[in-house]
Amino acid sequence: MKVLVPVKRVLDYNVKARVKSDNSGVDLANVKMSMNPFDEISVEQAVKMQEAGTASETVVVSIGPSKAQETIRTGLAMGMDRGIHVETDEDLEPLAIAKILKAICDEEKPELVILGKQAIDNDYGATGGMLAALLDWPIGSAANSMKLAGSDMTVVKEVDGGLQTVKLTMPAIVTTDLRLNEPRYASLPNIMKAKKKPIDAKTPADYGVDTKPRLKTVKVTEPEARKAGIKVEDAAQLVDKLKNEAGVI
Ligand code: AMP
Repeated sequence: MKVLVPVKRVLDYNVKARVKSDNSGVDLANVKMSMNPFDEISVEQAVKMQEAGTASETVVVSIGPSKAQETIRTGLAMGMDRGIHVETDEDLEPLAIAKILKAICDEEKPELVILGKQAIDNDYGATGGMLAALLDWPIGSAANSMKLAGSDMTVVKEVDGGLQTVKLTMPAIVTTDLRLNEPRYASLPNIMKAKKKPIDAKTPADYGVDTKPRLKTVKVTEPEARKAGIKVEDAAQLVDKLKNEAGVI
């Protein structure tokens, strides 16, 4: 089975986002960028499936600027077989990303596509669902476990107060949640090996996809600074403040 894993290059999750002075977006100049954490989990899952003999080929795809190649190399160093880089400097919306991925699926014919449940830079959480709709494939979302048995994939996700198990007929889409696995660190020899693995260079135009934006970011602002706390004298004062100031009881 061929497994395709789309990965996005985003601001590293340890870095505090700085908003540009004109409020047009987050300042990405000279900050550490990494693979979207959910996508690392997807890569780990694909590599595990290959090690277990259930995946025959694993392909990592990224759509983004030339530096997105580094993110693809990270996936290759973790064990993916080859990469596809669709180069664009535009910050594409999920529908455009999903259309490009659909065209790649038409060409590559994977049986499974594993995406992150969301990209941590925009929190859209939309691409997996859109791709499933465009392909008319079933989707198991926010997987915290996935198991293949014959031509069916069982996906378990956490829902409010419990677990939900769904069974998908392949080909299928799965989106990953944090508890699915713990991504490995790439070893130095594997980082060296990854340099020799092939990456196809493409553009959105190669797939005939119209990437015209449909929405405009009006403004981006920092969260309000937290106000300093106060020390109450006794329980009665605490109750009074919760009742009359915070209005929570
Ligand atoms: P989103 O819908 O933007 O929250 O992203 C959900 C998932 O879609 C990510 O975890 C990736 O697997 C995939 N994805 C989003 N944007 C890209 C991109 N530019 N290149 C490759 N995959 C992407």
